[in-house]
Amino acid sequence: MKNLRGILVLLALLVSVNIVAKPKIRIIATGGTIAGVSQSSTSSSYSAGQVGIQTLIDAVPQMLYLADVSGEQLVNIGSQDMNNEVWLKLAKRINQLLNEEGYDGVVVTHGTDTMEETAYFLNLTVKSDKPVILAGSMRPSTAISADGPANLYNAVAAAVSPAVRGLGVLCCMNNQLLDAKTVIKTHTIDCDTFEGGPSGIIGYIYNGEAHILQTPNNAHTLKSEFDITNVEKLPNVGIVYGYANASPLPMQAFVDAKFDGIVLAGVGDGNFYKDVFDVAVKAQQKGIQIVRSSRCPTGPTCLNSEVDDAKYHFVASLELNPQKARVLLMLALTKTHDWNQIQELFKKY
Ligand code: GLU
Repeated sequence: MKNLRGILVLLALLVSVNIVAKPKIRIIATGGTIAGVSQSSTSSSYSAGQVGIQTLIDAVPQMLYLADVSGEQLVNIGSQDMNNEVWLKLAKRINQLLNEEGYDGVVVTHGTDTMEETAYFLNLTVKSDKPVILAGSMRPSTAISADGPANLYNAVAAAVSPAVRGLGVLCCMNNQLLDAKTVIKTHTIDCDTFEGGPSGIIGYIYNGEAHILQTPNNAHTLKSEFDITNVEKLPNVGIVYGYANASPLPMQAFVDAKFDGIVLAGVGDGNFYKDVFDVAVKAQQKGIQIVRSSRCPTGPTCLNSEVDDAKYHFVASLELNPQKARVLLMLALTKTHDWNQIQELFKKY
């Protein structure tokens, strides 16, 4: 009897030690389809951002074996409504959680539409090498075969993995880990929508463990020079889409509204339609920074290729697609308005 009591005390002690030893992971919920609800389990029509953080956590009790998981709701929106203000709040909150409140990692639940932009913004503004993982879903929480619970479980598995430390911000979708700089949403409705571009995925999650295949090679997080601690508002940067016979009106509207920068989602290697080009040259002369990017889903927008960037002081987005070029240009403009220095930032990040 005495022995049995001793064994039970020892067991309780081991369990409590195990609980104390578990990594502390905070989930910040922002909405999206992972928190979406449809009228029936077979309906493809649904509203994003309906379910709160506690419901998400309760739906995946398995992750409590991996970590001491807690959560908070930052916003509850479809990510088409993501904005600069929420990005600043999110980055500041993550820095607080990782640098002041002793968390070992952060998972952000997010709609998939703009997940790549949020990931890239955080990659440049989070000041920690601890894991920060974005997860979402393509099917709402009420769907047959909802993908959200598995993505959330995998994201927590990534967040507790020592191998993920120092890799920068990653997205975890469909069992894969993707780098914030290269990740792109490629399909409007498929679960297998995210790709890592030509460089591929960073790793995958299998049996609740992260397996890392490669390391992102751009500067990020602790090596990023962007500090948003005291930034209350980001510069205004818009995107203009390129196409045959393009109207110069959208570019002109940004100029008239005194935007700080404009990214061109150009044709091919970041080329302008001639009427748009004329407005861009004048905009750059007025100090509105033009960045050339491309509407092509893959391939770089090269410096001084078909367009003489050195002559017009345009910046080439290189590996960044237009939506991520916008993120970097906003952050770059918090530091400098010199086109040469901005081009250097595009080479580095
Ligand atoms: N448009 C919604 C969003 O981005 C739904 C897409 C999704 O989350 O998969 O939040």
